[in-house]
Amino acid sequence: MPFERREGSLYVDGVALTDIAKSVGTPAYVYSWASIRQRFEELDAALADSNHQICYAVKACSSMTILARLAELGAGFDIVSGGELERVLAAGGTPGAIVFSGVGKSVEEIDLALKVGIRCFNVESASELRRIEERAAILSRRAPISIRVNPNVDPKTHPYIATGLKTVKFGVPAEVALELYREAHAAEHLDVVGIDCHIGSQINDVAPFAEALDALLALVDQLDNEKISLRHIDIGGGFGVTYQNEARLDTRAIGTMAKERLASRALDLIVEPGRSLVADAGILLTRVEYLKPRIAEDAKSFAVVDAAMNDLIRPALYQAFHDIQPAEQVDDSVRDSWDIVGPVCESGDFLGHGRVLALAEGQLLAIFSAGAYGFVQSSNYNTRPRACEVIVDDGSFAVMRPRESIAEMLRSEVIV
Ligand SMILES: *Cc1c(COP(=O)(O)O)cnc(C)c1O
Repeated sequence: MPFERREGSLYVDGVALTDIAKSVGTPAYVYSWASIRQRFEELDAALADSNHQICYAVKACSSMTILARLAELGAGFDIVSGGELERVLAAGGTPGAIVFSGVGKSVEEIDLALKVGIRCFNVESASELRRIEERAAILSRRAPISIRVNPNVDPKTHPYIATGLKTVKFGVPAEVALELYREAHAAEHLDVVGIDCHIGSQINDVAPFAEALDALLALVDQLDNEKISLRHIDIGGGFGVTYQNEARLDTRAIGTMAKERLASRALDLIVEPGRSLVADAGILLTRVEYLKPRIAEDAKSFAVVDAAMNDLIRPALYQAFHDIQPAEQVDDSVRDSWDIVGPVCESGDFLGHGRVLALAEGQLLAIFSAGAYGFVQSSNYNTRPRACEVIVDDGSFAVMRPRESIAEMLRSEVIV
């Protein structure tokens, strides 16, 4: 664990969170680089028996410092927009290690990806396949493609992050994939290189991954019979972490499962982890503005903090649980069951419900496991500037993204 308590104060890799808050203010996202590196190296080791490429899913946490450092460790990237492509390139990522996912790739995005030479387009529909072929022909390129198969596997996760059921917008069923592979194989400007899936997020059990991989391999065998041979198989991301008391997915078991199934095949393995590399490396630091203790037996006690749903939307959007703990000990704190809420004008603006804590006004709090889908989903709702991001490495900290200013927020707008 990168976070430890010493005499009531929380430290991240030896740095006091109170020192960080004093220097950069709150709300602030703070990440432990050592933790991200450790997660990456753990997964890399777990997959060592297969020829593999870890393509970090940029959307989980897209700070350029983290992308640049992951690239240095040998990570490739899974992107879902032209913006993410530009971001990865600006951070020094290698185009040849980028896979491009997403159901709505625009002409501009496809053209950019073709020009820089990404490893693979993960194609999600017949129309997209035809558009990629058309653009490749116009640009005199051959587009490397994989078909995203929807294996109809239930990952038993939150419905908003289950992506491998036939009722969702992602991928195509195996029957359709077979048709698309035949079409792509015959197309002059398409190069069939792989097959992929991504069945959902925050999956804590190996079984759904095994089921999905088996479904993909059945299709690989059918393609082999038709002399369509692939170079890689991509099982997506979705590796689960611990937010409350869920057992973290054992990535060694993923490694063993993949090795057993791929041993006799000449296929590279690609994985697209996002959350599992960064979630528990990050916290959101916030300060208590006001306490509103209950006014009647059946009322609630509220701690209003300076972070809100615009900073961390996961509790409001997915009913997600994030552990919340004081980052410093203060005098005169009041123990109660607190609803931790933000200043945004919505009753859905909460960070945690019914947390039994001793709190005081002005106290610094840490909201844990906020490294994934935290800052990246932040917005300017209520005209609130986005928080700053700080990275801790080797006993010191640095701002990798400054707090947005109100002037920056208003700058590009005009009164018409
Ligand atoms: C979001 C996403 C991922 C990463 O999912 P995690 O749950 O963060 O690991 C991987 N692949 C695709 C296609 C995605 O959309």
